[in-house]
Amino acid sequence: MAENVRVRYAPSPTGEPHIGNVRTALFNWLFARHHGGKFIVRVEDTDQERLVPGAVDAMLDSLEWLNIQWDEGPRVGGPYAPYVQSERLIIYQDLAGKLVLQGRAYRCYCSREKLEQMRRERREQGFATGHACQCREMTEQQRVDAEAATGPPVVRFGMPTEGVTRVHDLIRGDVEWQNDLQEDFIILKSDGFPTYHLAVVADDHFMEISHIMRAEEWLPSTPRHLQLFDALGFEPPQFAHLPMILGPDRSKLSKRHGATAVSEYRNKGFLPDALINFMVLLGWSLDDKTEVMALDMIKDNFTLDRVTKSAAIFDQEKLEWMSGVYIREMSPKELAGNMLPFLERDLPKELVPVDRDYLDSIAPLIQERIKLMETAADSTLYFFEEQPEYDPSTLIQKGMEPQGTLDALKSALASLNSAPTFDHESLEASLRATGLEIGVSPRQFFGALRTAVTGRTATPPLFETMEVLGRERVLRRMEWAVERLAGANLI
Ligand code: GLU
Repeated sequence: MAENVRVRYAPSPTGEPHIGNVRTALFNWLFARHHGGKFIVRVEDTDQERLVPGAVDAMLDSLEWLNIQWDEGPRVGGPYAPYVQSERLIIYQDLAGKLVLQGRAYRCYCSREKLEQMRRERREQGFATGHACQCREMTEQQRVDAEAATGPPVVRFGMPTEGVTRVHDLIRGDVEWQNDLQEDFIILKSDGFPTYHLAVVADDHFMEISHIMRAEEWLPSTPRHLQLFDALGFEPPQFAHLPMILGPDRSKLSKRHGATAVSEYRNKGFLPDALINFMVLLGWSLDDKTEVMALDMIKDNFTLDRVTKSAAIFDQEKLEWMSGVYIREMSPKELAGNMLPFLERDLPKELVPVDRDYLDSIAPLIQERIKLMETAADSTLYFFEEQPEYDPSTLIQKGMEPQGTLDALKSALASLNSAPTFDHESLEASLRATGLEIGVSPRQFFGALRTAVTGRTATPPLFETMEVLGRERVLRRMEWAVERLAGANLI
């Protein structure tokens, strides 16, 4: 391994950060941490037409939320600043000028349409389309004339017309490309902005990047980059192209497969640690079987030989399962702390702010049941409401009559009224005794009670729930149930 590992995540701010982007960031970060190197964030904003306002902040916020800290880059600075390409134009312009002087790049005056047409013609004549136009061979006078006619040119890099370009990719192994099949490509646009290809090579060199770890979709650009490194006399970094991420149907991951924007996962209430654990498995594994791993364990073991060549499959159900696993590993207090902002966002306004001590007592009851913070409000609503709404007929359990149910509820109320303490053990003991006394089965008796105190048929264990709700709420709800059933015209 190189002495100084320096890796970078180089997003283009063209939209919402999604799982694919952030997986690249994560792998770079883990690699840097594993090797005691530096992780750099660089904003690649040279394609000004595709910029989306706010996208840089959204990207950085996502990384911060996930606790992926960068050592150099926007917000933190660093010795190679600025880390935003649009603030580094002079570097690229200078390099493009040098390449023109050396004869490795040339000013090109052809419009996109004209070039397309020339390429078509060459294809029809059975030639490779790489070097379609004549601009590469123009005399100085021809250039002066062309410039007068068409305005400022672009600068195009001339790929070699023979031989092959090879890379030893640390994940994909040896890959090679035939040079005469590569097209000459623009490195500097007519407005003085570089294209991605020139900017990425320049910055990876000047920022002393040791390994370029990026998505597989960039593999076809690699021969261009290698030729640029060579023409500029720069030593290229090592390359590692990360496997694609596909949906369960093996098509390219998209919205159809569930949320993919990181902000959506955040809004739904996935825990950052669970999302990290899930994403790390999108192309890497510890040993082909371990799924749940502490971050330190991941960092200790994160090497490229465990990154797969084959595509990773994104499985939303697995992510939800993972989220549940992380929730159950929390202390109830931590869970309450995590739920709090979601409850304050999602509960009816009149129930907010919620009482933190009360929430701390609710948390252990729902810990086994909750997978996403997004569902916290719904899972706990009946703890906070003044009186849960329900149809009184749902109090009547299978095999019971309305009158029998009413009598059972009244007996339960009497027993609760005289309960000396309100902890779940004594509640259970006294209510079981009452059930026996009046001859109603536990299933029926406790079913009716559950509906009466929560308005629901499925809840955490009844007596624990009653203890947390507390004497006052439980008695109020029991009285209400008795009144509602008595007045429901069922009897
Ligand atoms: N700016 C490119 C992107 O948005 C990064 C390509 C690279 O890492 O070389 O994905």
